[in-house]
Amino acid sequence: MLRERPPCDACGGDVAPGRAVLSANLHEATEVARQLNQLHKDWWGQEPKVTAAGEALDSYPKLVPWLWGHPDCVGGEFSYVIAEERIDTAAKALGWTLRLMEKPWFRGTAWHYAMRRLGLVVEA
Ligand SMILES: [Zn+2]
Repeated sequence: MLRERPPCDACGGDVAPGRAVLSANLHEATEVARQLNQLHKDWWGQEPKVTAAGEALDSYPKLVPWLWGHPDCVGGEFSYVIAEERIDTAAKALGWTLRLMEKPWFRGTAWHYAMRRLGLVVEA
């Protein structure tokens, strides 16, 4: 059972336990991952490009969110969709994390945020 059950990101309604999905747009995630790969290639062996205040340049791409909610609301045509029952415990979520790490687009998504949001991560 998930410790946190946010409302649907699209319609704002409650989602019955076991009926929600997490969904990320594959086109956007692939593009962000490509940008990150290029940035890290450019930065390899160099000082990070930061402002005088120490902040990363604003060219750093925004990670694609994993949307939570009803399958019909957040599961778009170009989305990668994971059913709630597959990630509703920390052990299952870790298994999916390992599986997703093999996907080239995964680094373009904000998976860490989704895991914290659902209460699947405890900061020790
Ligand atoms: Zn909804």
